[in-house]
Order: sequence, then structure tokens, then C-alpha cells
Amino acid sequence: MAKALKTLRQALHYPPQYADYFAANQLLFNRVVAFYVEVIQAHEGILSLKNKEALTTLARLTHATEKNPRPIVPLSDLAPDVPAMFRRAAINAALGSARAFFSSLNTWRARKERHEAKAGTTGKKKQPFRERPPVPPRTWNKSAPFYAGLWKERTSHSITLKVWTGSRWSWLKIGTLSRELPDGFEMGSPHLVRKGARWWLHIPIEKTFEAPANVREQLTTGEKRICAVDLNLDQHLAVCSVQTVDGTILATSFIGNGTAIAGCRKKLLGRIARNRSQTGILAEGEQDNVALWRKIRHLDEHIAHQVSARIVQFALKQHASILVFEHLGSLRPAKGRYSRRGNLKRAYWMKGRIFRYSKYKAWNAGGIITCRVNPRNTSRECHRCHGLVIRYQEGEPVEGYTPGAPLCLCPQCQMRGHADRNASLNIGQRLLKRMQDPLKEKPHACSRRATREPKGSGVGISQDAKRHQRPSLPVARRGDHANEHGTAQRGRRRMGAPLLDIASQLRMHFE
Ligand SMILES: [Zn+2]
Repeated sequence: MAKALKTLRQALHYPPQYADYFAANQLLFNRVVAFYVEVIQAHEGILSLKNKEALTTLARLTHATEKNPRPIVPLSDLAPDVPAMFRRAAINAALGSARAFFSSLNTWRARKERHEAKAGTTGKKKQPFRERPPVPPRTWNKSAPFYAGLWKERTSHSITLKVWTGSRWSWLKIGTLSRELPDGFEMGSPHLVRKGARWWLHIPIEKTFEAPANVREQLTTGEKRICAVDLNLDQHLAVCSVQTVDGTILATSFIGNGTAIAGCRKKLLGRIARNRSQTGILAEGEQDNVALWRKIRHLDEHIAHQVSARIVQFALKQHASILVFEHLGSLRPAKGRYSRRGNLKRAYWMKGRIFRYSKYKAWNAGGIITCRVNPRNTSRECHRCHGLVIRYQEGEPVEGYTPGAPLCLCPQCQMRGHADRNASLNIGQRLLKRMQDPLKEKPHACSRRATREPKGSGVGISQDAKRHQRPSLPVARRGDHANEHGTAQRGRRRMGAPLLDIASQLRMHFE
């Protein structure tokens, strides 16, 4: 079975004094974690136990019960009546951190031993081993999780949490600004997370589904469809085309108005440049033009989410089970003003972002796999006969190759069409071809270095969406697992973030 993990981020409504309570609760949690890490450091043997046994051992060492009235290092010295689930969450967090620390310490020790065992070159003085050992964390800033029993009465607009207020444990009812749990997802333990001055509730959610077959199996057996995506810096940010395994072209979609986004971003960058030239001096270690930079950042993130969501929606609608992208080429340095160079760089970053977001969205949408192919000449070749095409602007002579021009014509087979659509069809064909003739096409060198796959893992080197090997949430909720479930996703997304006015003005047009 395969898993999809997400985090629901909920903005909270609470009276101002609650912020202090949440802070006190987090402080206590981190103190308890630090306490347990110390206990583990004093009893290193605990780490050789399985999590469940380690949990009971640590509880015996620190928690007084009728059978065990005098624990060796009582936790009650630190705080009174710590709820069992709070303690358990802290133990799991401490075990996770301690395991990470000791494993890096062990690799350091191994490296040191290897260095000492190695004989120095004759006649030369041996270099001493200079690498410093890892140090255990000195400060803790973990978000406090709420295991089952520490939260109750969760509705669509409120939740009740058991919180340490600094003087006692109390149940606090907190308003949440939320959306419902998506279909098929199961809920993990909520976390209280501080973002700036506000507190948010993060809930990891998980869905299990039938694991999809790998790319080779899908493309060699059965009627599968692939959705190939060509990402651009301007005009249409993404052009998707769906084709069957035998090469029949079914549908095309042009997504995103890149020109408007680039124009908007360039205007903002130009304003920053002007402000800077007027101020003359940039203070070191201080961000200038904070609001403008934030606007640019939010715009890019917002658009990348929009475009990637549309790509996945299109693939779903067309029943495609594989997404194909090309590897990102290198960014060619551009000439021109600051705003032009900065704008191009950001448009290029946006391509990477759209790819990353599409990848996880496609996987979460029900196991659509993402692949990448070699980008060489995808826009220069004709998708029908693979001769070189002429690329031109409308109203201009039909000759040569103008990068970025919208139209293309193949002089060999008279194929006429949109240049980006042609590129996306080529991208799809490249994956199909790779399956028929796996040795011929070598993937992009960067990817070969980055994701080296074990031999016989099926396809390829650039099969990107691997099954996420994460512990299951129900286990984590019961607290028998040491892994932390703070933020399941790598991509940052703020749900409650206000939509930018510019972003809403930009019309994304779709066909
Ligand atoms: Zn042709």
C-alpha cells in the first residue's frame, strides 16, 4: 500500500492571554524533552531497545506509580501531574532526537577510527584528525503535539485542547478557521505551531491507497495515458498534452499567463531597484523593502500552486497516470537591468517550484507518478518526424529558429502548430521511447548524480515520486512511535495567507 501525507494548517481564534498559555505549554514540552534526552544520555543502553520498550523503560525511570513508588529520576521535580500522553509525546520526541544525535556521533567515531588506522605517507608527518564531534542540541524548540486524550470535541470550527497554562493544566476551547478533512484521509496528532506572533494548529493527515505500478509496468502493459508538461518562462507557464502509450494524442491544455506574471514581478523588482538607488546604502544584516519582497515571494508561491494544481486537475480529468516533465536546463545568465535579470531568475525558479508542487499533488491525488526526461532539443524537434522545426512569430517570415516564438512549422512533414505543444508532445514521446529502448537515452547528468537508484529498481533513474516510506499516522497517534509528525510536507504553504491583490488581478487563462 502507498501513502499520501499532508498537513492541514489551521489559523486559530483565541483570546490574547491564550498565546501566553500556548507558549508556556510549548516551553514545558521542550523542558520535558530536554529532561528525557538527559536521562537517555545517562542511560545510553536505552537506545538499543525498540521504541515501545524504550518508552516503558523511560517511564519506569521517571514516573512514580503504585508498583514503582520511587523512580530514580522523577519527572515530578520538573512539573506536577504531567499527563501520560504529554509525557509519552515528549519521550518519543526525545528518543527521536537522541537517536539522531547518537547515530551521527557513531559515524563521527567511525570516521575518526578510520583516520587513525590509515597509515600516513612515509616521510611526512601524519595529519591529525581535525573534525569536531557532533554536540547534542543545547536548545529545544519543538512544537507541542497533542496525542489522543489531550484534545477533544473537534468540530469544523473549534477544538478543545489540554494545555499547561504556566500554573495548571486546563482544557481550552479554541476557534479554528478550517476546511474539512479531505475524503479518505485519516487524522494524526495536532500540533500547536507558532508562526511569528500567531499560533496555528497543524494536523498531519494520511491516506492509504493501492500502490501504483512503476512506470515500466504501466507503459508496457495495458492502456495507460501519460500527461507530458512543458514548462516555460513566459506566455503559457505550462503546456500539458495527454497521449496514450501507442502515441495517440488526446488533449492539450495551456495553463497560466506567464507574461502577465512576469510583467507584474518585473514592476515590483523595478520598484525595489529604484528604492535602493534612492536610499543609496543597504544596511548589513537588515532586509530592505520588506513589503515588496514579500509581495514577490507570495506572488511566486501563489502562482506555482495555482499552475501545479491545474496541471494535476488536467491529468486527472484525462485519466493520465503518469506526469512527464523535462529536467530543468541550466539558467543562462541574462543581460540587462537588475529587474530583468532578477525577473528571469525568478521565472526560472518558478519552473522548479511548479515541478515540485505538481509532483506531490499528483501523488496525493491518487498515486500519479512523476518522471523527468532529457530536455535536449525538445522544442527544436518535430513531434511527427523528428526533423528540426522552424520557429517563428506570427506575421514574421517563416524561417530560422526564434527562441520563445509561439509558432512552429516542420519543413519535412509540413506539421504546423504551437511550439510549446510540440515540445510537450516530444517530452511525452521521449518517455515512451525510453521504455521501448531503455539503453539508448541517458538521463540528464545532474539527475544521474542526484538520484542514483539501485539496479533493477524498474525504471529509471529519474522516476521521481517514490513511495513515501513514512511511519503510519495511527501508530503515531497512539504514541508508540518516535518519529515526529510536525510538518509532513516540504513545500511551505500558508493556508490562511491573504491572497495578493495583484495575484487575483492576474487572470490565468485556460483552454
Ligand atoms: Zn515533421
